[in-house]
Parts: sequence; structure tokens; C-alpha cells
Amino acid sequence: MSVVGFDIGYQSCFVAIARHGGVEVIANEYSDRRSPTIVTFGEKQRMMGISAKNQQVMNFKNTLYGFKVLLGRKYSDPFVQNELKMLPFEIVESPNDKIGIKVKYSEGEKVFTPEQVTAMMLTYLKSVAEKALGKPVVDCVVSVPSYFCDSQRRAFLDACSIAGLNCLRLLNETTAVSLAYGIYKQDLPGENEKPRNVAFVDMGHSALQVSICSFQKGRLKVLSKSCAGIGGRDMDTCLFMRFAEDFKKKYKIDALTRPKQMLRLLTECEKVKKVMSTVTNPQTLSIECFADDKDVTGKTSREEFNTMCADLMLRMRNTLEMAIADSGLTLADLDSVEVVGGSCRVPMVKEVITDVFKREINTTLNLDEAVARGCCLQCAILSPSFKVRDFSITDTQPYSVKLRWQAAIEGEEGEMIVFKPGDAIYHSKVLTFYRKQPFSLHAEYAEPANIPVSDPRIGTFFVKDVVPTAEGEASKVKVKVRMNIHGVFFLKSATMIEKLKPEEVELPSVESMDTSISEPKPEEPAEGAGDVDMTAPPEPAPAPADEGEKIDTPTEGMDQGAETEGTDQGAGASSQDSDSSPNLENKADANTKDGKVGKEPETKKPKKPTIRQVDLPIDEETPSLRKTQLTKANEAEVNMNYQDQLETQRTDSKNAVEEYVYSMREKLESSLSDFISESDKESFRSLLSSTEDWLYEEGEDQPKKVYVERLSQLQKLGAPIERRQEEHEGRPGAFDLLGSKIVHLEKILVQFDSGDEVFNHIEGTEMDKVREQVVAKREWLNTNMAACHSLPKSTDPTTTCAQIRAELKLLETACQPIVSKPKPKVEPPKDETTTKEEEPESEEAAKEGEKMEEDPQPTGDNSKTDDMDLD
Ligand code: ATP
Ligand code: MG
Repeated sequence: MSVVGFDIGYQSCFVAIARHGGVEVIANEYSDRRSPTIVTFGEKQRMMGISAKNQQVMNFKNTLYGFKVLLGRKYSDPFVQNELKMLPFEIVESPNDKIGIKVKYSEGEKVFTPEQVTAMMLTYLKSVAEKALGKPVVDCVVSVPSYFCDSQRRAFLDACSIAGLNCLRLLNETTAVSLAYGIYKQDLPGENEKPRNVAFVDMGHSALQVSICSFQKGRLKVLSKSCAGIGGRDMDTCLFMRFAEDFKKKYKIDALTRPKQMLRLLTECEKVKKVMSTVTNPQTLSIECFADDKDVTGKTSREEFNTMCADLMLRMRNTLEMAIADSGLTLADLDSVEVVGGSCRVPMVKEVITDVFKREINTTLNLDEAVARGCCLQCAILSPSFKVRDFSITDTQPYSVKLRWQAAIEGEEGEMIVFKPGDAIYHSKVLTFYRKQPFSLHAEYAEPANIPVSDPRIGTFFVKDVVPTAEGEASKVKVKVRMNIHGVFFLKSATMIEKLKPEEVELPSVESMDTSISEPKPEEPAEGAGDVDMTAPPEPAPAPADEGEKIDTPTEGMDQGAETEGTDQGAGASSQDSDSSPNLENKADANTKDGKVGKEPETKKPKKPTIRQVDLPIDEETPSLRKTQLTKANEAEVNMNYQDQLETQRTDSKNAVEEYVYSMREKLESSLSDFISESDKESFRSLLSSTEDWLYEEGEDQPKKVYVERLSQLQKLGAPIERRQEEHEGRPGAFDLLGSKIVHLEKILVQFDSGDEVFNHIEGTEMDKVREQVVAKREWLNTNMAACHSLPKSTDPTTTCAQIRAELKLLETACQPIVSKPKPKVEPPKDETTTKEEEPESEEAAKEGEKMEEDPQPTGDNSKTDDMDLD
């Protein structure tokens, strides 16, 4: 299982992986950890990240950015209509008010959805992670702005599926940051101590997100969140508007209506903004050849910039204050303020935060990489292959969700708020209905003005196969709704409760128990267990009851309530939540798909069941893509990715030819100059030049095979020259080694001849064999060295380094066993032997023994793991 976290920012993406027991943010093919969130389309290939950014100005119509904020929105959404004005590519209306992004790709026009474009970016980031990990990546955690509503989250999940990723959790960006902060903290207060309260402020390119969290050992709880659609891009736009107006007046160039100029000016404005973060003196913005062969230039200052952004800062102030108010804390209760996000580098932003929180801000975390790191940590927590210290996260959802339903009797339509702002994500509620036939439930946001998209609908859920009771009355149907781990609303299950006939009750009832108790405990997830308000009555329901009790022993109040409102009116709701493991959620979700519905098992004295539960099938209509659509989109993505790879290989082969031409031409005049004859050099030069010309003409666009052939033709000529140079450089060393060996053996022969006692145990006939070899090799060496010296460098050498090394090997094999033959041991006197045997072989050996014992056992890479251990 892969452990990867992706932060898909409006402007930049980061990828974090778990490796060597630690979390690491990894670099892309440009050795940069930041990858621009940009996708560009060429005739044959898509490019993402830095390559795409490099194409942006030249190919602005087919270079997409800013698609993160288009996810999950309708084309008619005023926000989208406003975005269109500043985007230089074409956005069209697709059927059902969907957004289509039109580009020229692969020799035709194509329309992609924002989900598909996001999937393209994810495919690229996935490949970055795969390169670093050296294995396929499927499981991951992806960040999502905490203000994203249901349709936006569903769109993000669809994008993951299209990219072939299994998103274990869509993690709110601010929650990812607080996890990255809290999990490493060793000094958090204990369970019964006052929690440490920390405010996190993330100001990126498109949004400001604030959260206030409380930390205790092993847990974090989100107390409040607030967001606003303001970020670095709004500051860039302020500068842009100011300079665009200036240049329109001064140079008669309207950057607002000319996309290329708009992009160039925006880029320069961002640069000026960044410079102004560190210096206080006025800044000049200049662009050469901006348009109509005109250079443009203008000036601004930090004071002017601050004035331009005054409204933004006011909105920022309100957003920060709202987070404090919603948290229920006072400023004195806050322990610290942590900032992340690139725009928190802007001095006026820092000033506002300091002023609102009345304290210095901290930058404990890496401003750019904290979100990706938090996602990776969450993935590690969910992964069975990593051992991470226990850390529970209680996150909340930000909007009121209501359910509407049609009554069986006219005029008794109803609705109720099922989730309130601040309710825990990963949280279920049960509603009871009385129906004689199938019915539908409509989920939507109760306060459309508070959500980021224009369409408040979440989805319609059809509860099927409902039938009246045997007596012809309305059946009791329990519907469980859930806000899942991704913050997405869905109908988890619907169960029809049937009363058993008296004769059925009398029976031993093993069978009926089997059918009714279909799921073991614990059935429910429980992040934030105990944080959900179990006592507050849901509107407009009568008293809620614990779901487990209700199933076997229907709550009186509920039944009465239902009766007072009419038998077909939706009535009670209760919530239940339990364990913090999202895996349990997956299990539960899978059960929903299987059509299973659970109930609490009997824990006390066994009772004869008086009811039977029947699982009901549910159909849903939500903005999520259907399975078939997802499969089709995934296939298209896989195909495009394959084409990209083929094209990359093709261009790599072309580049290899080009590179060879340039480097060989340069070497022919320098390092290789002496290793080729003048006439050959001339013809090789002209072949290189004609290849270069070919590359710009006929060879501009050829299949990979053609480039590979061209390169091999050139290499056929170039390789012998390079080999000659290599041989020339390696030969002296190889001759030296052989020469030294011969000298060494010659010395041994002299010692032997003089009767030296080191060698006097060796037979004379054996030493004669050595002598023969030494003489022969000496002769071979002298002859071949002389031959090589006499040859010009431009001809192939008569003796190669490999041959010299082979001669050395032969000499060693023949002589070494003879000259290193050990002397026979002389038996020492008996009484000394005993003492000697007890001593180590030598002093060195003794020391070595000690050393081995002292060596600590290898600890593996865990020394680097901080708080994470590799299983
Ligand atoms: P979002 O979180 O809104 O989806 P993002 O994650 O891509 O966007 P970040 O990477 O956190 O955004 O921040 C990018 C913004 O930070 C840009 O507007 C960039 O200009 C700004 N920024 C980065 N460095 C500086 C700096 N030194 N001074 C001022 N602004 C900066
Ligand atoms: Mg961000």
C-alpha cells in the first residue's frame, strides 16, 4: 500500500510520501518540490506542472489553470461566470448546466470537465510519487479546501477515481495543517488537563482558511472554521488592474483584452508583490516588448499596494474574527497562532493576523508544504503498513444540511435539518418514516447563501421496495444518513421493520435472528465520538432515541410523535457515532453497497425477536459521476497518459540525436580531435551538419524509430573515435599495473635465488614456472608498449586495455598461488602450546573481536522516523 499525500492548491501542488519511516515532500523532474497546477495541451501531448507553465504564454488558449475552483460548480454559477472573464481559455456550457473546458488537443477540439483536468494533474503527481517510491501509487489522501461543499467534494473524489487513485480520505486543508502540527508535539496536555488551543491561518492563492483547534495528547478537535475566497491572486489582481490602467493610458495597450499580455502582466505583478514582501522601497515593473513592439514600465510602492488591498484585509479581519467567535474561546484561551500558505508572507497579512489575535504569529510549519505533509501523515495513520502514534482527529462540517420528503397524505410534506454546522464529519443519524410505498428524500443545504456554489441541492435518494404491513398499515422504515469521512452526505441504509406474527415469535427463531442481525458490532465509525449532541432533539422531530434501542424496542415517544403527525410523516432522528477508524467507515460503506443493514447485537439477556428487518435498496441521484461514466473517463485518462508517454519517448529520442550532434561537434574540435584523421573528421563534421539540418526540416516530426536509427548511424562513426580516446587514457594505467606486478614477481625471484628464508620452502621447479611467466609477460609488455607508442592516436590501438588486464589476470593466476604458498608450521614445545592456544591469534585479531562486540546492533532506518515507525 502506498502512503502518499497530495496538496492540490489553486496555484501549486505538493506531493509528500512516507519513506524510511518519515514523511518527505518530494521533487518533480525539475528537482522542484513545487509543481504549478497547470495542464497544457499540445498537438500530440499533454504536459503538467512546470513544463505546462513554460508553455503558458505561447499556448494560452490550451493551457488550463484555476480549475480547482471550477470543480463541482454549474456553468450558470455566477462565480463561474465571473471567473470566465479573467481566464484566457474557453469555457463552454455542457448539457445539464455542466462546465466544459474546450481545448485543441490531438489534432482536434476536445471538451474536458474540471474533474478530468484535475485528474490529469493528479495523474502527473501520481507519477512523481511513483518515481520516488519506485512502485505504483493507488492509495492516497488528498487535501480539499475546508469550505468545499458536497458537489465540490464529490467532484474531487471523481477526479481521484479518474486518475486511478483510491482516495482514503479527502482531508480538509486546515485539518491537514493541524495534524502536521500536532502529531509531532510531545508536550501536549493530558486528557484531563486544559487543552492547548491553536489557531491556524492558511492564506494561499485563491482562499483564506482559518481553523481553531484544541489539542490534547493523541487528539485534535476542530473547534471552528471560517473561510473567505481571498488570497494572493486577489492581491495580484489589484496590482494588475492598477498597471493595466496605467499602460492603457501611457502606451495604449489594453492588457485586459489581450490574453498574452494579461498573463505576462499578471506574472510580473506577482513578482513585484513578492519583492515588496521583503523590501520597503518603491518597485519598478518593466516588461520588454510587451505588445506592438513597445516596452512598458511603471512604479508602485508598498503603501500604495496596502491601500489597494484594504478591502481584502477588511474581509480577512472579519474571517479571522468569525473563527474566534465560533470557537467559543476568548483570545486569552488561545495558546498560539500558526500560519501557512504563501500569502502569509505578505507583511500586511501578517499585520492583520497579529492585530486580530493580539499576539505574534508562529511559523512552526513549512508554509508551502504543511498541507501535503498532513495528508501523508493521515494516509500513514490509515495505512496498515505504517505504525504511527495514535492520533484522533475530530473534524467538523461547515453547513446545515436538510432533508425534504413528500408525505403520503397531501399537505404533510416535511423537512428537517439533519446536520448542523459544527457537526462532526463521519457522523450518522437515523430517521424513522411510516410508508406504504417507495419514497424519495431530497438532501440540500438549508442556507444557500452560506455555501460556495449556487446550487444548494445535494442529491435525491429513492428508498425502494417499501410495502404496507400485513394489516395494510404503513410500514416503519428507518433511514440512516451519514456525513462520511470525506465530508460527503449520503444515505447509508434504509431498513423496513416488520412485526413478526405470533406463530413466528414462538418458533426457535434462529433463522429470523440470522436475517435481522446482519452486521456485527462495532458497526459505526466514531471519529469525534462524544462530540455529537445526542440530547438535542432534531427538528421537527420528537425526542430522539438511541438507534440500537429503537430497533428492537421502538421508542414510545417516536411512535407517538409519528402518530400525532400522521402515520406517513417522517419523525424521529438520532445520531450515533463510534470509532475513529475510517477503515470501519469503508467497511460500513461497502455494506451499504451490498444492501446489508446492521443493528446492534443483543448484549444483555437474550430476547425472542418480535420484529424482522428488511434491507431496502436505495437509488440515488447526485452530482457524482456514475460508475460507467467514471470507467469511461478513467479509460480515456489511461489512454491519454499512454500517448503522453509515447510522445515523451519520441521527443526524448529526437533530443538524443540533437544532443549527440552538438556534443560530438564540440568534442571533434577538442578532446577527440587527435583521435580521428583529418579526412574522417571532415566527413563526420559534414554528416553532423546535415543531421542538424534534417532535424529542423524533414526530421522535425518523425516516429521514434527514425530518430533511434539516426542516432545509431552517428554512433557507429563516433563510437570508435571515443573508444580510441578511452583506450589512450586508460592504457598507461593498465600497463603500469601489469608492469608493477612483473617487477614484484621479479623481486621475489631474486630473493628466492639468494636463498631468502621467506621463500626457501618453495620448490625450485615451481619457481621456474613463475620465472617463465615473468619473462614471457615482460616481453609481451615491452613489445606491446612499443607498438602502441609508435602508432598515431587516430588509428585503433593494437593492444586494448582489456587485453592488458587479461594478461595481468593470467600472470596472477599462474604465479600467485606459488609465491604465496605458506611456510609449514613449526611445532612449538608442548608446555608452551597450552598457554598459546588460550591466547588470541594475534593482538589485532583480539582487538577486532572486541570491536565487533562493541558494535551496536544495526537499528535500521528507524533513527530517522521521528514519530513514525516502519512496520
Ligand atoms: P490555495 O491554497 O488557495 O488553493 P495554493 O495552495 O496554490 O492556493 P500557496 O502556494 O499557499 O497557494 O500560495 C500561493 C500564493 O502565495 C501566491 O499568490 C503567491 O504569489 C503567494 N506568495 C508566495 N510567496 C510569496 C512572497 N514571498 N510574498 C508574497 N506572496 C507570496
Ligand atoms: Mg493551499
